[in-house]
Amino acid sequence: MAHSGTLFIISSPSGAGKSSLIRALLERPSADGKLQVSVSHTTRDKRPGEEDGVHYHFVDKAQFERLIERGAFYEWAEVFGNYYGTSREWIDQLLVQGIDVLLDIDWQGARQIRKQSPSAKSIFILPPSREELERRLHARQQDSAEVIKNRMAKAVSEMSHYDEYDYLLVNDTFEHALNQLSAIIEAERANTGKQAVRYQDLLSRLLAE
Ligand code: GDP
Ligand code: ADP
Ligand code: 5GP
Repeated sequence: MAHSGTLFIISSPSGAGKSSLIRALLERPSADGKLQVSVSHTTRDKRPGEEDGVHYHFVDKAQFERLIERGAFYEWAEVFGNYYGTSREWIDQLLVQGIDVLLDIDWQGARQIRKQSPSAKSIFILPPSREELERRLHARQQDSAEVIKNRMAKAVSEMSHYDEYDYLLVNDTFEHALNQLSAIIEAERANTGKQAVRYQDLLSRLLAE
């Protein structure tokens, strides 16, 4: 079916700021109704302040495995010892309505999405330094020292996948990174093929003999 929404994949090492950037992007008036973030399923424990159905759909391993068997996921991957997956149904409904969808997923998930949806656009976010990445993981005050150590240890191998992405941002000054992210999304919305679907009626009126 013809659809005009775009899938945006956003990846970064844990703590680089993707969740904060996505949240800020969705709060901008320009996002109003045109942009949504996909809520993944995960088997990891809920963090303080996280809500089921808002930050993630929290499920146990057996439930997750049943969803895999049912083909419910666009992609799924094991990250830091837990399962994470993107459900297919909701995303397809949004894209058909012309709504852009943000996926906060790791590089393994990004590879699977690109294979199935080559028109997806992907963005990798880097921290300004290793020290700042570690500082942000601590500043977030949501993970134990052991979890932070594990995430720092994985950061270098995650960042080594930066060149598989269409766009590369450095989240140094938050507002600057946010403006860049917003510009990428706005530019993609103006893609001729996407606009032709969105403005079918206008085009037929403008071009009528
Ligand atoms: P944070 O990035 O530190 O906020 O940690 P999260 O727990 O939110 O995410 C953990 C990892 O799982 C990150 O690398 C995400 O990109 C990845 N992730 C989140 N959702 C998905 C998903 O639906 N699919 C895949 N493949 N990875 C995901
Ligand atoms: P991620 O989702 O990539 O794991 P978060 O969005 O949770 O990262 O950000 C990690 C921490 O860093 C949060 O406490 C957030 O407020 C902070 N942070 C994000 N971007 C910046 C920035 N540009 N400068 C300083 N702190 C930041
Ligand atoms: P956290 O446990 O900090 O919420 O997430 C850890 C990592 O898992 C992040 O890098 C995040 O992008 C990734 N992640 C979250 N949801 C998914 C998902 O559905 N699929 C994949 N592949 N990765 C995910």
